[in-house]
Amino acid sequence: MKIRLADGGKTLWTLVLGTELSETERFAAEELISHFREMTGITLRTKADTSPCTPYEICIGHGRHATLAADIGDAEFGLEDFALSIHADRIVIVGNRCRGTLYGVYEFLEEDLGIRWYTPDFTHIPCRSRVEVEERSCVIRPALEYRETLCVHQGFGDPIWYVRNRLNRAMATPLFGGGVQWAGKQFCHTFHSFVSPEEYYDEHPEYFAWREDKGCRVTGRRAQLCLTNPDVLDIVIGKTKQWLRDNPGANIVSISQMDATKPEDILYCQCPSCKALDEQEGTQAGSILHFVNAVADAIRDEFPYASVDTIAYSYTTKPPKHVKVRDNVILRPCFNGDLLDEWYKVGKRLFIWDYVTNFRHYTLPFPNYDYIESHIRGLMKHKVRGIFIQSTYDTRGTDFNELKCWLYAKLLWNPEKEISNLIPEFMTAYFETAAPPLMQYLDLLRERIRMAGKPPACFVNLPVFYIDNDVLRTADELFDRAEKLACSEEILARVRRMRLSVRFVELMYMDPADPRRPEMVDAYFDDLAELGVDRISERNELVDAKEMVLNFTGLYELSEALPGAGYSPDQI
Ligand SMILES: [Zn+2]
Repeated sequence: MKIRLADGGKTLWTLVLGTELSETERFAAEELISHFREMTGITLRTKADTSPCTPYEICIGHGRHATLAADIGDAEFGLEDFALSIHADRIVIVGNRCRGTLYGVYEFLEEDLGIRWYTPDFTHIPCRSRVEVEERSCVIRPALEYRETLCVHQGFGDPIWYVRNRLNRAMATPLFGGGVQWAGKQFCHTFHSFVSPEEYYDEHPEYFAWREDKGCRVTGRRAQLCLTNPDVLDIVIGKTKQWLRDNPGANIVSISQMDATKPEDILYCQCPSCKALDEQEGTQAGSILHFVNAVADAIRDEFPYASVDTIAYSYTTKPPKHVKVRDNVILRPCFNGDLLDEWYKVGKRLFIWDYVTNFRHYTLPFPNYDYIESHIRGLMKHKVRGIFIQSTYDTRGTDFNELKCWLYAKLLWNPEKEISNLIPEFMTAYFETAAPPLMQYLDLLRERIRMAGKPPACFVNLPVFYIDNDVLRTADELFDRAEKLACSEEILARVRRMRLSVRFVELMYMDPADPRRPEMVDAYFDDLAELGVDRISERNELVDAKEMVLNFTGLYELSEALPGAGYSPDQI
């Protein structure tokens, strides 16, 4: 049954504010009012829960009016859970006061009113004089406890895009109901943040790893800690508590090994007691997990809401034979696959770290579209509880970065969403009249990936298997058409920014001796700057990258020559 909310600039509906609304629930009500106003020109009237109940009420948050919806019941709401009930004369959005009610409002705005937050600077609000919604009722509990995409949209100062798309780290401020937040902004590789060689090695070398081959305790940035030393445990417990006291919004402390993947850099402790523990567990993760459990036990009473985490990575990916972690320990495997099932037996809260761009060449097309759904759903089958997706993050992107970030956001919130519906929707909204040839371009790349039967990789050099000169020729024709079809300067700029990916491959594939090349490189870097792209590779400034591209003398050399290139995932 269709329910009419507005017609001809008028509405019968009133917004009822529940009792004892949290700051976040008040914000949720404001979000509903402002989006509805932009959609219809109508400012919804509000009234308190103490007022008489009447028909045509939209009830936000718990209260007497909300209980009139018979289908809400007494559901228990976890931090982000909510119920939405839409009936002929009553709409109720209630949930956990933390983020549940807020997410319920976003669900209503997005799924029932058709509003979309595609990018931080592009929101789609359909303007309608008549607004109708379908009758429905649901209780929603998000599939994942932790959802994050690290991309240019991070925007650090303006997390609202994240909040509205129900990603729950970047917006960890009280107004938005907090979120998943690491204490001290220490996300991983934190051992030295607790016990640094600079501070402790001279007086206490015994805090650091003993190495059999060296016959000594090691120092330096890759030295791991001696995790069976009781003083080390005391220091880490003390600082963990201090970080949590200093960061009242934080709910996770990372206690994780220093970064190292090359055999010569892997410096875990081989002292007799660490070695015995690791041998008993059959993995170097053993001593780490026993240590992390001890910290978890020590913080539980004072910080019942907090957890500690550690990573399963490099030399610690093999699961232990015996130890299980406490329920306030989060495990973050930096891989995926069958080992996840083994890790699930060690601890139930698995957060995955995932990479989805080419970090050596942000500008290189990375057509992983047909793997997004299956990948996220595959992780759900392994019962993971959190997913962190790291994409192009330190520059405005090319290569349909905004599209992909939005797709990840939609799938993280609801892994059952279909990208075959989402892609055309985004493309049509974002590129308007220029969308059809751009969708053909995406189809062309997706077809190449399908033919090869494997996804693009994150750390490969050019040339790539899914782009040859035929693809480039067709891509050029399609972008020519898209530029002609662009209906405004803004749309044209979006098309040109996406085209930078194709132009990058053309520059990389062309004969280095071609006399036109230096001028093309100049024009390319001018356009990057004009279109707001300030990286073509992770961390490297454009000015350095340009020098390398100009001096480029062979097809495979750029990525080796770029400053900082050649690093592996462990250095992310
Ligand atoms: Zn040791």
